[in-house]
Amino acid sequence: MNPFPVILSAPSGGGKTTIARALLAQRSDLGYSVSCTTRAPRPAERDGRDYYFLSRREFIERQQRGEFAESAEVHGNLYGTLQSEVNRVLRAGQHVMMDIDVQGALQFRRAFPQSVTIFVLPPSGEVLLQRLRERDTESGSQVVARLQSALQELQAVDEYQYVVVNDDLDSAVKLVSSIIDAEVASRDRVANLRLQVTQLIERLELEIENHSH
Ligand code: 5GP
Repeated sequence: MNPFPVILSAPSGGGKTTIARALLAQRSDLGYSVSCTTRAPRPAERDGRDYYFLSRREFIERQQRGEFAESAEVHGNLYGTLQSEVNRVLRAGQHVMMDIDVQGALQFRRAFPQSVTIFVLPPSGEVLLQRLRERDTESGSQVVARLQSALQELQAVDEYQYVVVNDDLDSAVKLVSSIIDAEVASRDRVANLRLQVTQLIERLELEIENHSH
């Protein structure tokens, strides 16, 4: 099997992180790419597990050294995916679960064109607003910034191969899991397809030959 990155994007509050976590807990053929960020850790977060927490200076130095497959500024903080993280998971034979924003996703697909891109949509405007409000602990101006970035993110939906409406979490997780299964079987990804088919053809030809004597 040829493992590939799976990119989940959504307007903030779309539930993509929850979907990604649920899938990682269910499927041993998935691994997580730990991102770098310059934002401060939240109480339950651990360095190296949830993110690599970097100073802005360190982030920029590593960016200049070309270590990132993509990077973006989200809500005033820098986020980026290390090339080495993605390769580490791929080398372990696992698909790479990527929870990244829309700007980053488009850059990332250029670096890893074999990626599968999935956009997670909230089921309605009301649900989107409710989810955005729930996560909003910040001041009024940041609320507007969040609404604006959700609006911009929604406009990128056409860049994605798949769309999953996150009405019910279990169904959304199942659907993303089915997309991964279908992609594994897609012709372009099947390892050694030519060789497998050639061997089958050779075997048939031999049999035909035997029958004709
Ligand atoms: P949070 O700070 O709430 O963990 O994440 C904020 C936003 O940054 C989310 O939309 C998340 O998907 C995005 N994000 C997390 N890691 C990365 C990354 O490595 N690259 C990019 N471009 N976005 C990321």
